[in-house]
Amino acid sequence: MNAFRFIPSPRVPYADVTRRLKKIRWGTLSRLGIVSGFPILLWSHTPPRPRGNVVISAGIHGDEPAGVECVLQLLEKRPRWLDHFHLSIFPCLNPWGYEHNSRVNESGLDLNRQWRGACVSEVALARRALGDRQFDFTICLHEDYDATGFYIYELAATGVSRVGPAIVKTVSKFLPIERRAIIEGRRANDGVVTRPMESLRRRRHWPEAILHFMRHTHHSMTSETPTHFPIEKRARAHAETIRVAAARFLTSSRPGSKC
Ligand SMILES: [Zn+2]
Repeated sequence: MNAFRFIPSPRVPYADVTRRLKKIRWGTLSRLGIVSGFPILLWSHTPPRPRGNVVISAGIHGDEPAGVECVLQLLEKRPRWLDHFHLSIFPCLNPWGYEHNSRVNESGLDLNRQWRGACVSEVALARRALGDRQFDFTICLHEDYDATGFYIYELAATGVSRVGPAIVKTVSKFLPIERRAIIEGRRANDGVVTRPMESLRRRRHWPEAILHFMRHTHHSMTSETPTHFPIEKRARAHAETIRVAAARFLTSSRPGSKC
């Protein structure tokens, strides 16, 4: 992937992201630190009786704006189902990249390969915020310039997809699905990529989702939208990913339900 690439969507400065976040009248917006002159932010919320504990992360690749837009719209709209969850949301983990339309950070590093250690400032700040907490599921929001359709990576302790096909089915109503049998070198099944545990352990450079899965959760998902579609549809695809995963979790965790 090139560090700088044309994006067919209108872009906004990072200041607009922080301005929209500051307008949200629920939850808590925390500044974790300043990197390359930009604040790294965590938005969190704990309802009175949370039924689940969730991490959502966007914007670690600065040239993938749909995840950031999804998070902003989700917090602005505040659908009722969100209130069932303790939420830890990283709205944009690479603000310098977002501002400069760059996949990498100011030092030229792909932040989504830096999670096995914690030497890079943006990643260290996020890892400190996660602490040693456990979550019911985590979702990282990404985009793919080479994709012809939506797809999702799903890491589950059982090695079997838990919700990926349901997410794909929902998104397919308004966005094409990536149907290739191999996606980014991984075997895929109708837009769902699952990974064996052994291949994760061997990997030297962990993406954020693998850190989540190894240290913080039994269920981690990464949604990938095709960048050459309108940003409204791409943001909606990420939002539907979160909504369907949340609905499935609430159903399966209901007292008396079979998991
Ligand atoms: Zn990405």
